[in-house]
Amino acid sequence: CGIVGIVGDAPVAGRLVDALKRLEYRGYDSAGVATLEDGAIARRRAEGKLGNLATKLGMEPLAGNVGIGHTRWATHGAPTENNAHPHATDRVAVVHNGIIENFRELLADLAKDGYLPKTQTDTESVALWVTRELDRGSEPELAVARMLKELKGAFALAFLFKGENGLLIAARHGAPLAIGYGATEMYLGSDAMALAPFTSRLTYLEDGDWAVITPKGVTIRDGKDAIVQREQQLSQASA
Ligand code: GLU
Repeated sequence: CGIVGIVGDAPVAGRLVDALKRLEYRGYDSAGVATLEDGAIARRRAEGKLGNLATKLGMEPLAGNVGIGHTRWATHGAPTENNAHPHATDRVAVVHNGIIENFRELLADLAKDGYLPKTQTDTESVALWVTRELDRGSEPELAVARMLKELKGAFALAFLFKGENGLLIAARHGAPLAIGYGATEMYLGSDAMALAPFTSRLTYLEDGDWAVITPKGVTIRDGKDAIVQREQQLSQASA
């Protein structure tokens, strides 16, 4: 039900949890974060309150200067730790708000190639589809561009890739998502509230947009993959 992301130059795990707290008002049943530790995807997830995730991170900290976080309001699959986001393979981690309506068709197609789900969620179909594209040799951008053409439903998505310390990719289709501009970092969040501690300079993605985010800036493409300029705004949300 809430998405946050940071691609930057300082540890992100604690800051992701703080940003998720600012999205608590939306309601949620479980939460999680993923970062890159020495280039490898690492995750912590927990059922229930964000305090449970914070406790887990206290006992098993996550290093890394790039990461994504999620509060989940389950639509497909019980609110368990295993079904909590981020969903991941060794190549990609994804957080998702909304519903992938055709996830059963996607999973059936993936199963033919041996890509099998470990959870009951609609979201894992996205992680597996992108992984198959990456396994076939696509770069992250192409893998996401291709996967987005397959999806039906309303969603916001954010991706983190193995070995890509300076990269997040985000997509919006019927669920809000804002990109935040920092001095040496970039941010991603479901709304301005989540991003207020980091920055007040924002760009809201429009429906169909997807964004390649690095510490230096963002490139936004529309649903036809053409580069577009979206207005920068000054958020009124207070930190
Ligand atoms: N449909 C996804 C799930 O049930 C995402 C739900 C959400 O928006 O939090 O895991």
